[in-house]
Amino acid sequence: MHTIDRARLADRLAAEEQRFVAEHPRSRQLFERAQRSLLAGVPMSWMVRWAGPFPVFVRDAAGAHFTDVDGHRYLDLCLGDTGAMTGHAPAAAVGAIVDRVRRGVTYMLPTEDAVVVGEELARRFGLPYWQVALTATDANRFAIRLARHITGRPRILVFNWCYHGTVDETFITLTDGVASPRHASVGPPVDPNLTTRVVEFNDVPALEAALAPGDVACVLAEPAMTNVGIIHPEPGYHRALREITRRTGTLLIIDETHTICAGPGGYTGAHGLEPDVLVLGKPIASGIPAAAYGFTSELAARIQARLTVEEADTGGIGGTLAGNALSLAAMRATLEHVLTPAFFERTIPLAERFAQGVESVVGELGLPWIVKRLGCRVEYWFRAQPPRNGGEAAAAADPVLDRYMHLCALNRGILMTPFHNMALIAPDTTEADIDHHTAVFRESVAALVE
Ligand code: PMP
Repeated sequence: MHTIDRARLADRLAAEEQRFVAEHPRSRQLFERAQRSLLAGVPMSWMVRWAGPFPVFVRDAAGAHFTDVDGHRYLDLCLGDTGAMTGHAPAAAVGAIVDRVRRGVTYMLPTEDAVVVGEELARRFGLPYWQVALTATDANRFAIRLARHITGRPRILVFNWCYHGTVDETFITLTDGVASPRHASVGPPVDPNLTTRVVEFNDVPALEAALAPGDVACVLAEPAMTNVGIIHPEPGYHRALREITRRTGTLLIIDETHTICAGPGGYTGAHGLEPDVLVLGKPIASGIPAAAYGFTSELAARIQARLTVEEADTGGIGGTLAGNALSLAAMRATLEHVLTPAFFERTIPLAERFAQGVESVVGELGLPWIVKRLGCRVEYWFRAQPPRNGGEAAAAADPVLDRYMHLCALNRGILMTPFHNMALIAPDTTEADIDHHTAVFRESVAALVE
């Protein structure tokens, strides 16, 4: 088995950086100009998290491709980190979106689309009552508030190295079994140990012990972790999670924001999970800001018994623009015409092709690396065994190698998700696109080991 020569990696990375700078003069110019008006030269802090010394500035996008201001065309395997999993500007949704824009986008009154969306979400996810928010972060925050409100319990529980958006209570990690604020968490309002318990995913005894005191309102979980790489639940884990949460009176919130990649009903639909609350966001409105959270009849009754009309606008749940007519028109069109069973019949085999391509190169070049897939999301890891939990996954990170792989891909017309080595497949992605990725992956790795 090969190992990576770090000096050679550093040399190759420097060469890729030079190439990137030379080939992106217009993006560089915009980035330099932006230093005078935008903090760090970008409108949102994460936009500095790309492999090059500056981000590529986008001109336009359609389907699985986008073009930058220097005229380069890219295969987009990041797809707005799932926000554009539908493909960019999907024709089946654009008509309804444009039509709504022409007829006014926000009234703080419902439209008929809202009813259709509620009915369709109930049909797909098996939860009868729904609410709409602008982002998955907000949907998670609101679900947590409701869980605290109706259980009267102060804490929540999350899994080590989870990500559920910019939700204060979730920024907590375990180091050698000790919980502390997540490294780089900016200005936490309180020590998250006051609000949150954190355990490793796939650890039933730890979950049991953390819920035993009966002071946890809810578990907030991705059904398979995706934000520290893809980590599948072990057989029986979800059964145990549901049994322990029910037994201890703890609500179970399943966050399907990323795992919607598993099928039309997300991981929940594909595996028959029974959450109390289910959260969706990112792609459900084809990139127009929208999120939704749904709950059981039992929970809906408990919520309604405890909320008054007076609390409706100042209770910490909602938002002036949440549930706006544009979000709902986009959600309706996306659910009816884009994120359909046919979407997954097209994208999942392409993700399998991606996995097979990378696996064949890894085998040929003799590297101790693996590939993991969840629906139309697929990822390679620089380790031989799948990690069981967030702690193991975080320990496997290799930021320099990630940077090199991402920059090689970018210089050859492929955008990967900036966090770890994840690719997402849109319906417009083609077999030829996937094979192009396999060839670029081979070239990048061969340059390190051959
Ligand atoms: N939940 C999960 C599982 C996520 O991965 C993310 C974002 N990566 C969010 C929630 C938050 O989404 P947003 O940033 O759109 O609010």
